Amino acid sequence: MKLKLGKKQKSRLNRANLKKVPAEVRDVVATLRAAGKQAYLVGGCVRDLLAGLDAVDFDVATDAVPEEVQRLFRRTAPTGIKHGTVTVLGARGDYEVTTFRRDGKYGDARHPDDVTYAESIEEDLSRRDFTFNALAYDLAGDKLVDLFGGVEDFERGVVRAVGDPKERFREDGLRPLRAVRLAARFEFDVDGETLNAIPEVLDRVRMVAVERVRDEFMKMLATAAKPSYGLELMRDTGLLELFIPEVLEGYAVTQNEFHAYDVYTHSLYSCDAAPAEKPLVRLAALLHDVGKPRTRVVRDGRVTFYNHQAVSRRMARHILNRLRFSKKERDYVLHLIYYHMFGYTPSWTDAAVRRLIRKVGRENIADLFDLRIADWFGNGTNYGFPGYLRVLERRINDAIAREEAFTEKDLAVDGRDVMAELGIPPGPKVGEVLSYLLERVLEDQSLNERERLLGLVRERFGPPDVPSE
Ligand code: ATP
Ligand code: MG
Repeated sequence: MKLKLGKKQKSRLNRANLKKVPAEVRDVVATLRAAGKQAYLVGGCVRDLLAGLDAVDFDVATDAVPEEVQRLFRRTAPTGIKHGTVTVLGARGDYEVTTFRRDGKYGDARHPDDVTYAESIEEDLSRRDFTFNALAYDLAGDKLVDLFGGVEDFERGVVRAVGDPKERFREDGLRPLRAVRLAARFEFDVDGETLNAIPEVLDRVRMVAVERVRDEFMKMLATAAKPSYGLELMRDTGLLELFIPEVLEGYAVTQNEFHAYDVYTHSLYSCDAAPAEKPLVRLAALLHDVGKPRTRVVRDGRVTFYNHQAVSRRMARHILNRLRFSKKERDYVLHLIYYHMFGYTPSWTDAAVRRLIRKVGRENIADLFDLRIADWFGNGTNYGFPGYLRVLERRINDAIAREEAFTEKDLAVDGRDVMAELGIPPGPKVGEVLSYLLERVLEDQSLNERERLLGLVRERFGPPDVPSE
């Protein structure tokens, strides 16, 4: 697969945007200045402001030490005192105020061994990762501090390390992933020297806490229009092999005539086609066919991947455990992967539609559809929204709008009713009865009335000689 990007965004930075700093952020800076301290906006927020993007978090760098910052503001939280960070809690947001830093030695490739305070913003900027992240803005003097050509790099569309890339990557093995993540987010190139340094520092990348890697990776899925571009950078540099080698197994593994791409490429394009606002669905899209290479069989000249959804789910479980996803996130992604193959034909009865809703879970249907559609667009032979899915989607939405019953909770009776009706104590029997009732109701919704259900309970589970009341 060749890196495929549309026309690269040419991003002119606009100094005038710096005037758009929210009033509360100005107040934070003003308070520090009034106390005779230096104070600058720094990092990602300056970059995003200049680019006319919504800056999410505003970070302030100052020569005030944390104790002073805590004294100057009414409400603060000691979020990272040992790194010099105090969070100022405002009415409209929280702001990280960090004392100018100069990082110490990097023994474990994770955190500086010790942080010492620096005297100047210049020193503070020198420890930052990429040139366009090493920008500071002095609000009072309306002065932009750009020591490393960050503005020019941003406008040319280049991710470039501050200083010697190999050294900077060895200091903190997370930076290569940040480089890829930012390149994917802005659709930038990674500068040659910076890119070439990555394969040489993989031993340091490996030492980074996997949670930090996972967070950068998920941030990439959430912010890039085309994660495939970042994933290809990861493949080229060895980062993918390091963290999700299973995805590489699909490389050059060909499929049947419904697919224009090999399994790997299809996975990347499916990931692109899933909504960025749902990074976990994107993750599911990336992994939904990960088991295909291991199930590939050619039978009578036809390529098959029998039961690949189960193998994909098993492999994805390993991957997600390795990357320390929470149990909830992991199970959610696995659920989507497993059900992505659901079949549908127009001959399905309403009961069959309800069974699908029950199996997948009402609350997961929308995401499962997003995955299925991403899968559809990701195979390179389809155009336009698949009509049969449109029909199924309408049938599902109608059933949900009619407030039909899909789970035991939706039944007109509950466990207590069952126990009272049969005179039995709590236990597995109660669940068995409810599950029987649900089966009947899935088939025929008109049964979902209290008296009719209790009648069914008596008829099926009651003693034969119980007289009806
Ligand atoms: P985003 O907009 O996605 O938050 P960001 O660049 O703001 O991107 P953050 O993780 O919020 O990323 O970091 C804020 C700033 O801190 C960065 O712009 C950069 O200047 C600096 N920084 C963050 N992580 C590192 C790192 N690992 N090494 C050096 N500097 C870093
Ligand atoms: Mg940020």
